[in-house]
Amino acid sequence: CSPPPRSLCLTLGDIFIAVKTTKRFHQSRMELLLDTWISRAREQTYVFTDEEDDALKRRMGNNLCSAEHSHLALSCKMAAEFDAFLASGRSWFCHLDDDNYLNPRALLKLLSSYSATWDIYLGKPSLNRPIWASEILPNNQTVHPKSVHFWFATGGAGFCISRKLASKMVPWASGRNFLSTSELIRLPDDCTVGYIIECKVGGQLLPNPLFHSHLENLQLIPASLLTQQVTLSYGVFENKLNVIELSGPFSPQEDPSSRFRSLHCHLYPDTSWCLQTVGW
Ligand code: UDP
Ligand code: MN
Repeated sequence: CSPPPRSLCLTLGDIFIAVKTTKRFHQSRMELLLDTWISRAREQTYVFTDEEDDALKRRMGNNLCSAEHSHLALSCKMAAEFDAFLASGRSWFCHLDDDNYLNPRALLKLLSSYSATWDIYLGKPSLNRPIWASEILPNNQTVHPKSVHFWFATGGAGFCISRKLASKMVPWASGRNFLSTSELIRLPDDCTVGYIIECKVGGQLLPNPLFHSHLENLQLIPASLLTQQVTLSYGVFENKLNVIELSGPFSPQEDPSSRFRSLHCHLYPDTSWCLQTVGW
């Protein structure tokens, strides 16, 4: 971090990182994240899930927010994430899915070029145009629904919001308000976030190419540029594995579906389980 012109350097402790997961992915997805990038941002990463799990609790401690049969199970994780962020007092809110790799170093570098006292909404749009929705007016005038359009950052690529902007979102996003807001447009949680920011608060998405979901071809990212990316992902697209292209240190057999173990060693080679082949 370079001190002037900003005297206060941003640290990881200023960022609230929320990971959305669900019971059936605790083992298959969360263990991988805990072994890799979460180990580099342990204190500020909070996991939001829908069922108690002792194994996950042992690894996440008080940073595990789980609730059986409560509102967390009923797809209100985004609202819970938002409220926990507001209570945390941290400067930045970042949301991730459990199939994202977040590089804390690259995230810090990106957020350092902004101030949390500005209205900032950063992420990757999944469409190349704004989404159109029909908004149901609160007084049930459904006969003449209003057409609205807005940009949103796809949740599957991760996104970040400054505290200044988040505080303006409170009337639509905190507590039960998030669900009633999402009912106005009947779209998923990440769309609702964009709707609140662009249609209610008057903010704007800043599209950023360093966020990646598995909706794009991850093979196209050159290996030499992987260190700069803020988020990456993996998934299946048209029956084929969509993963980043990275030759090692683990073979595709040892690190098959995500390549996240290889990526983690590429970015953080001092990790204990990474093959220490450097030094020549
Ligand atoms: N997820 C969830 N509840 C569910 C299903 C999925 O919270 O019932 C979470 C999942 O853990 C992930 C995100 O929603 O963080 C997106 O799920 P997934 O990657 O399976 O689907 P996609 O939308 O990317 O195809
Ligand atoms: Mn996904």
